[in-house]
Amino acid sequence: MSYDFDLFVIGGGSGGIACARRAAEYGAKVGLAENDRLGGTCVHRGCIPKKLMVYASRFPAQFEEATGYGWSKPESHLNWSQMVRAVNNELDRLNGVYQRMLDKSNVQLFRGYAQFVDSHTVAIGDRKVSADKIIVAVGGRPVKPNNIPGIDLAVVSDDMFNLPEQPKSLVIIGGGYIGVEFACIMQGLGTQVTQIIRADRILRGFDGDLRSTLTEAMEKHGIRIFNNSNQIEIEKTDEGVKVISRSDKEDIAVADAVSLAATGRKPNLENLGLENTGVEIVDGAIAVNEISRTSEPNIYAIGDCTPTMELTPVAIREGRIFADTHFGKKDAKMSYENIPTAVFSTPEAATVGLTEEDAKAKYGDEAIKIYRAKFRPLYHTLSGQDEKTLMKLVVNRDTDKVLGAHMVGEHSGEIMQAIAISLKMGATKADFDATVALHPSSAEEFVTMR
Ligand code: NDP
Repeated sequence: MSYDFDLFVIGGGSGGIACARRAAEYGAKVGLAENDRLGGTCVHRGCIPKKLMVYASRFPAQFEEATGYGWSKPESHLNWSQMVRAVNNELDRLNGVYQRMLDKSNVQLFRGYAQFVDSHTVAIGDRKVSADKIIVAVGGRPVKPNNIPGIDLAVVSDDMFNLPEQPKSLVIIGGGYIGVEFACIMQGLGTQVTQIIRADRILRGFDGDLRSTLTEAMEKHGIRIFNNSNQIEIEKTDEGVKVISRSDKEDIAVADAVSLAATGRKPNLENLGLENTGVEIVDGAIAVNEISRTSEPNIYAIGDCTPTMELTPVAIREGRIFADTHFGKKDAKMSYENIPTAVFSTPEAATVGLTEEDAKAKYGDEAIKIYRAKFRPLYHTLSGQDEKTLMKLVVNRDTDKVLGAHMVGEHSGEIMQAIAISLKMGATKADFDATVALHPSSAEEFVTMR
């Protein structure tokens, strides 16, 4: 049977593009369909604009810090539209970069929405193409909970990058990555932020010490966090959007214009024509095995439309491994162990491996030894800022292996990327101890903890 393409990729986000380019490098004939701008969520509505806004949000604290070093405090205010424009200009540039990358890579780009006609055929508008293998990399989008009356009045993270004006106050519902990151960004930019979470603490699934340390720091920055808040309602009033938590017996806050629902994301699977294939969907995501294969043998899926971790580098790695295996004759396999991740809050939080709670559940309390350091970093000493850095190692007592590393503090994302290499290599606490410290740094605490 001959097909138009060896591989057809649906979705031009980070995962889809990485997969398509790698397969084309091996000589495969590759087509890719994208309905929107190239680069997907990460480039246009996620990681990149978010991180640029994180940088923007940290300047006021730096101005403040500088006074401890003898600088006079500058008179400065944020021009919101200028920031939004600057961020969007960068996204336009990146869109162009992706376009040129694809042009050079012999991947044939189809501009339009792709739908399965059958398991080997995809329609993009009037055009039908066939492919031996098809990979679905359609990503996801924010989802608003349907149990909150008035939730339609809330915006989602996609909207935060293009708000016409900076809100004076903002209520955020949700305590995951997006809720926490936007709480810190907006507070740093000068908006009064209230965060409402239904759990006892932010960042469910993260290490308990990390969650507490970050909560403490966010509250010190002025973010009001309401825990265990259920029965939330949103109302439009003359003053703005009012968010009420019946369980807190008070009107939590009046946001002057905006409340943000940061309550999770879901795969973009509607109108894909998956019903014309044998692809199975479980809990709203495409079910895949350990090699990204769906229940239809020639169809694969990667990234946020599957149940794996919703992280850009995971989607990219899954896509490249798929290409390596099928077109590069390499025997590669995706490993989901020890994937580092950072929450770009202020202060930053980062983690790799097992939390204390998970390690104890897996190996038993007695088998786990915890090393912890909490200190005021040198940077804050002259300004007198009382912000603590937390570093923590979770170690298996029997094997001495470091099972997890957690940090809250400046540059923790950068530091954790390097720590992740050592965990991936199976480093023991003795290996950490044998590493000479780099002084003076915060990171040196990771090799000096006793
Ligand atoms: P998360 O799943 O991380 O968090 C969702 C939050 O919303 C949780 O606090 C959850 O509470 C709460 N929630 C869910 N439903 C309701 C409801 N009905 N009422 C009230 N609260 C509710 O999702 P995000 O949207 O924050 O992020 C999606 C994913 O995107 C992340 O999991 C992450 O993988 C990825 N991401 C990664 C980033 C990074 O790498 N830095 C940055 C941003 C996103 P509870 O905890 O009780 O379930």
